[in-house]
Amino acid sequence: MENFTYYNPTKLIFGKGQLEALPKEVEQYGKKVLIVYGGGSIKRNGIYDNVMEKLAEINAEVFELPGVEPNPRISTVRKGVGICKKEDIEFVLAVGGGSTIDCTKAIAAGAKTDVDMWDIVTKKKKATDALPFGTVLTIAATGSEMNRGSVITNWETNEKYGWGCSYTWPKFSILDPVHTYSVPRDQTVYGMVDIMSHVLEHYFHQTTNTKVQDRFCESILQTVMETAPKLLDDSENYELRETIMLSGTLALNDMLNMGYRGDWATHNLEHAASAIHDIPHGGGLAILFPNWMKHVLDEGNAARFKQLAVRVFNVEAGNKSDYDVALEGIGKLRNFWDSIGAPATLAAYSINESSVESMADKTVIANSEYGNFKKLTRQDSVEIFKASL
Ligand code: NAP
Ligand code: FE
Repeated sequence: MENFTYYNPTKLIFGKGQLEALPKEVEQYGKKVLIVYGGGSIKRNGIYDNVMEKLAEINAEVFELPGVEPNPRISTVRKGVGICKKEDIEFVLAVGGGSTIDCTKAIAAGAKTDVDMWDIVTKKKKATDALPFGTVLTIAATGSEMNRGSVITNWETNEKYGWGCSYTWPKFSILDPVHTYSVPRDQTVYGMVDIMSHVLEHYFHQTTNTKVQDRFCESILQTVMETAPKLLDDSENYELRETIMLSGTLALNDMLNMGYRGDWATHNLEHAASAIHDIPHGGGLAILFPNWMKHVLDEGNAARFKQLAVRVFNVEAGNKSDYDVALEGIGKLRNFWDSIGAPATLAAYSINESSVESMADKTVIANSEYGNFKKLTRQDSVEIFKASL
């Protein structure tokens, strides 16, 4: 592996009833609080009322930014930055999923600069500070609750990019699996696909000796696959929701990828598709990941795929070639995602051949290459999108 420094300052507060900790955590940072949330699920399931009650205990002065979109938009970030500056907000609290948390990260950074946040998301400028912020997570998926990444969409230019900096770690994240009981079936599936995809992105790299990390990755994949069908039959089962929630955090809090960097081409492809068609992130990944795998697989790298196929998908290697075992493993991943109702083709979102070229344009900035396991070009993007139609 490569040399590394591991640093993750986010305090993880996990388990039933842990919202109790909210007042004490927020109080350290101030009383003028902006709460950021999505399209209203927290009002329907009672989490909003519970959060407000907890903030009242410290006499917080609460401002609100509702309406964060799935695939959060820069226009909403700018709205939040405006509130923070006008009201001298001291602390931002995200109550929701990855979209709300990612939006909050950008708002927190935007509140401390005069630079437009889109210039920071597109890496033309750098963030220099951020307001402190915390999260109350309501859906298991992105890991954003314990990482510094944020993915923001510009709906005017149809671009969706990830960014992050040393100021965008949440101060704390409260994860109560009960808060995820009300997540609908389709979003539960997208979340589990996203979690598995993060692990798979890590798994494909060119660094030698990642034996420990490989086993960590494999155990999370196996656990999610074992839990997923049970959870879909029993959506208010605490232990099943708990297992998936912890899997989501561990999949992308930088623990699995100590000492190496994974591939991340499939996330790049998905962001391109979402930027134009506004599709759910996990849905896009379910379509694209197996096709990325088939596209990059060759005799030279088949051993990596074979390890995954044998250890996670229980493929019998026997006398088969590595390549054949690898293909069987990819087939099993596809079958598994089909079995839990994840989409398999872009047609599921009414995306057809006419947008392949424009989606491919969005995968490369200035004709650059992307992907760390295998370098891909715009032409590769075209081929993967075509195979995904
Ligand atoms: P999300 O977009 O935050 O939420 C998806 C949907 O689930 C929303 O409609 C939301 O409704 C609903 N929902 C959330 N919690 C619920 C609950 N407890 N009960 C009922 N409905 C609930 O989903 P996400 O998958 O967590 O986030 C996706 C975004 O994160 C994408 O933009 C993706 O690109 C990005 N992402 C970020 C990272 C990262 O590390 N930062 C990694 C991967 C992906 P409401 O809006 O009404 O609440
Ligand atoms: Fe993701």
